[in-house]
Amino acid sequence: MPADVSRETDVDLMAPKADIDVEFDTPIARAARAAMSVRGVHEEVWPRPAECRIMSVANQKGGVGKTTTTVNLAASLAMHGNRVLVVDLDPQGNASTALGMERGADSRSIYHCLVEDEEIRDLARPVPDIDNLWCVPATIDLAGAEIELVSLVARESRLKRAFSAYDVSDLDYIFIDCPPSLGLLTVNAMVACEEVLIPIQCEYYALEGLGQLLRNVELVKSHLNPGMEISTILLTMYDGRTRLASQVADEVRGHFGDLVLKTLVPRSVRVSEAPSYGQSVMTYDPGSSGAVAYMEAARELAYRAKTGANN
Ligand code: ADP
Ligand code: MG
Repeated sequence: MPADVSRETDVDLMAPKADIDVEFDTPIARAARAAMSVRGVHEEVWPRPAECRIMSVANQKGGVGKTTTTVNLAASLAMHGNRVLVVDLDPQGNASTALGMERGADSRSIYHCLVEDEEIRDLARPVPDIDNLWCVPATIDLAGAEIELVSLVARESRLKRAFSAYDVSDLDYIFIDCPPSLGLLTVNAMVACEEVLIPIQCEYYALEGLGQLLRNVELVKSHLNPGMEISTILLTMYDGRTRLASQVADEVRGHFGDLVLKTLVPRSVRVSEAPSYGQSVMTYDPGSSGAVAYMEAARELAYRAKTGANN
């Protein structure tokens, strides 16, 4: 486990809860929000994009909220009438776990698509308890894929080819949960997508390494996938107690402008508990501050056009 992840966990467990959680976490407020969000699930249908939006959730830093963002945005959109596929491209398989994908030694996964040409349609599985949501899981085989891909033909575009062979017109969103590196798996995601969503954790080192990510995006854009854009930035694990968090948020907004979603995702214990129950926080505790924030972020995504900055 990377050092910063254990530090975050320590913060979650040891420190008094963030203002935003305290404020939201009275029993009556929670019951009210749960009732509202449950009602919302049945009443509100968000717009569906004209064409399937394929989004890579990328940041080469670990522990910034890529997987949490992928899983909860996907679940929120599916709960509001969109058809969504999550592709787990991280050998650690955290998105698969959070979406309740059972895996055994001989399970088929995205590895078999990338390395053995199996088809997405044969690998996608419905997510338990959430209609309109599917997942192509990752298994530990994927850890070897970075090396195995090197010797394959068109190694950067294996995922793109798999999407081309699959009828994506049936889907509204595909989210690709990237590993914490800029290797061949992440390059495959960037070649296969039209949009990159970057979660940024509101912490001291948040912007470190971002330059490298942006340079990689430019490289892929100029050589392999000219149509791809960074369309969305989401600020995650915002801790309302610290000035630092708001400084980081201001700095990110100063740099990326309208690409940054208005919704800030607060640090919320419920968000970090949900995966161990094989659930998104949207089903685990829909009234929690984290679930409400991810629902809002997903709504923003659904209502804004592809090139957020220009619209
Ligand atoms: P990444 O995929 O970028 O490595 P994760 O989504 O796995 O990051 O998040 C890293 C850790 O932080 C996980 O343990 C996750 O449960 C926790 N976490 C993510 N977002 C939040 C949040 N808003 N509040 C509290 N914990 C969070
Ligand atoms: Mg992850």
